[in-house]
Amino acid sequence: MKYALVTGGSRGIGRAVCVQLHKMGYHVLVNYVSNDQAAQECLALIEGQGTLLKFDVADAATAQKCLRDWQEGHPDDYIEVLVNNAGVRRDNLLIWMEEADWNTVINTNLNSWYHVTRLLLQPMLLHKYGRIVNVASLSGVKGLPGQTNYSAAKGGMIAATKALAQEVARKKVTVNAVAPGFIKTDMVEGLDEAALKKDIPAARFGNPEEVAAVVGFLASEAASYVTGEVIAVNGGLYT
Ligand code: NAP
Repeated sequence: MKYALVTGGSRGIGRAVCVQLHKMGYHVLVNYVSNDQAAQECLALIEGQGTLLKFDVADAATAQKCLRDWQEGHPDDYIEVLVNNAGVRRDNLLIWMEEADWNTVINTNLNSWYHVTRLLLQPMLLHKYGRIVNVASLSGVKGLPGQTNYSAAKGGMIAATKALAQEVARKKVTVNAVAPGFIKTDMVEGLDEAALKKDIPAARFGNPEEVAAVVGFLASEAASYVTGEVIAVNGGLYT
């Protein structure tokens, strides 16, 4: 049995990634934080051949306990694919931004990367094989007004991707990121799609499956010589 963990795997992009990794033969550990019904729907989509892991990625102690418990329960296995996907946004102009919204976004989107990746990295290094794929954002590449917290978190994740890739390449562990533009999920609800798509060369928002296809490639053995890379999935919005 080969194992993959997708943080924030129950809805949106993460769910499509779970389906993609399931098709690639992985038993998928589906992390989520609160929406049990969405998590069950995701499990059904991967034909029950996954495991739900409910924990808050922003809470270091809980996240690490849950993952350590899994490791102790599976002494002969390891998680060879990690997709750091869980994320939230709390948009506001900096002048109005509350400290709580800054901290929530940094903790959920960036500090979680540290807690989860560090724990799962050691077995990947020992087995001399691993794939880490980080779901960043156009916001972390270009910077978007109203998203200083989110741009900082995603930009930090991109820089960490490039740094870690160089630390572990010799051990055959690759570390890459995808940077989606506007993708149709709950996260973009309330955005004015008709107005925003005028600026997108592809003239539409993307689908979660279009991000998952790129994540699937980066998570595959075929991507063995791709590391430290950030692949935009944005319909040509920003290149
Ligand atoms: P989404 O539809 O809102 O789904 C978010 C997922 O993350 C859910 O499964 C949610 O679980 C989980 N989650 C949220 N907070 C969590 C926490 N503290 N601990 C564990 N799980 C948590 O979001 P999405 O649009 O698919 O976004 C996925 C990733 O892509 C995010 O990192 C986002 O920043 C990035 N992204 C999205 C877009 C876009 O246009 N949609 C563009 C660029 C980048 P529950 O169901 O339990 O809440």
